Amino acid sequence: MQEYIDKQWALCLNDFPKKISSYGIDLWISALQPINIEDDKLVLVAPTEMCRQQINNCYIDRMREALREHFNLDKVLILLPDERDKYIENFNSTHSSTREVLENRPTTTQNPFNPRYTFDNFVVGTTNQVIYAAARAVADSPAVRFNPLFIYGGSGLGKTHLLHAIGNYIWAHKTGNLNIVYVTCEQFTNDFLEALRMSREKGMDSFHKMYRQADVLLIDDIQFISSKKGVQEEFFNAFNDLYQAGKQIIISSDRPPKEISTLEERLRSRLAGGFMQDIQPPDYETRLLIIQKKIELENFEFEKGMDSELAERLSNLNIREMEAILRKIYFLANFHGKVVATRDEMEEVLQKEGNSEPKLDSKLTPDRILHTVCKYFVIDEKDLTGRKRNKEIVEPRQVCIYLMWSQLAIPLTTIGQIFGRDHTTIIHARDKIMEQLKTSNQMKKVINEINQMLKNFTEHA
Ligand code: ADP
Ligand code: MG
Repeated sequence: MQEYIDKQWALCLNDFPKKISSYGIDLWISALQPINIEDDKLVLVAPTEMCRQQINNCYIDRMREALREHFNLDKVLILLPDERDKYIENFNSTHSSTREVLENRPTTTQNPFNPRYTFDNFVVGTTNQVIYAAARAVADSPAVRFNPLFIYGGSGLGKTHLLHAIGNYIWAHKTGNLNIVYVTCEQFTNDFLEALRMSREKGMDSFHKMYRQADVLLIDDIQFISSKKGVQEEFFNAFNDLYQAGKQIIISSDRPPKEISTLEERLRSRLAGGFMQDIQPPDYETRLLIIQKKIELENFEFEKGMDSELAERLSNLNIREMEAILRKIYFLANFHGKVVATRDEMEEVLQKEGNSEPKLDSKLTPDRILHTVCKYFVIDEKDLTGRKRNKEIVEPRQVCIYLMWSQLAIPLTTIGQIFGRDHTTIIHARDKIMEQLKTSNQMKKVINEINQMLKNFTEHA
């Protein structure tokens, strides 16, 4: 099968240049690795999230013809290296029941960490310097200080990057001596359930082998830990065993332990015994450095002065979103046949992203936005921040959340407090409006009109 796939893929690579620039092929497409054909799609592995997004956003349409011709299919599924094993595991378990998948997972013979997520590529600013220093210290001498290390902060602020940076660093400096295991919380849970499903002893054996033989255990996104008793129990035991054996444990989460409702109390207090530090959204200086770093790493060329302008205008985005904007700008420029991206592309992308409204000034407060939104929709402030769920209230509430997020430099958790909701709800509300802004003129009108009211207020205040 693999031989067939490789052969057909080579034919595709020959044909792609008819539709796709050599830039796109060299940079992204040639980095893909075909690994399987499943039903009507070709399964590919991309080295990085950025590569996957580029393919999905910019190239897939232009790849279809060749895929149709040589594979007789036109869909692709793109995995990242760390999803590959799980995919194969799932595929094997649905396509043949005899595989002992956990056993087959390559352990530490190959560096499992994303090569781009290194300390060198991590921009340090005032909002992340403490956690950066702690991560460095842990990578330098695991299990000496800061154990367990607990990193928390909003989505897209660099938690996974730091976990991989620790992994990469230890890998590069101590490979052979230390067994490093990186796992998302979801994968831990799945592995556990999978082990339960397998013949009892064998399954549990390989599960324990996998996790309890770690010298360094990195667990990403612990907020997804299941409340299932078995999973908590297993996690707690693995945690305790490792901790008592003097192994390093590093955990990330989008919120502090006390806000993870599914976490058992005893686990929570164990975590509290280690070193805990948050990552905040980047300030202007850090945003500028990040933008410059990304431009450098991706070999993008931006017109002079655009970096600082972007740093100013992308003030409400997390780093993942900033990266997405940079890519879009550059690709739009490429699409226009330019090598250097200019302000025209920047404006076009920011317009589309609903990020074009100039920031209002500092007289604006959450209260003022709340008040204005209620006035606009003619509803009661108590209802807006209350629990009602009818459409007449829900949409204004989402609009209000979006406006607070887009117009005020306050953390999502603060907005959450205003509405008595956790920050994932806030993110959901914000995203809902951002989605609508892409397609609905009505929503654009609403946002513009309220912004105008806010502007009138601040000008006359
Ligand atoms: P999280 O796990 O917190 O959701 P990630 O670690 O996945 O966030 O980061 C999202 C993206 O932003 C990644 O591409 C990462 O490389 C990048 N990133 C985050 N923080 C930084 C930083 N300080 N310097 C450079 N890139 C960063
Ligand atoms: Mg992450």
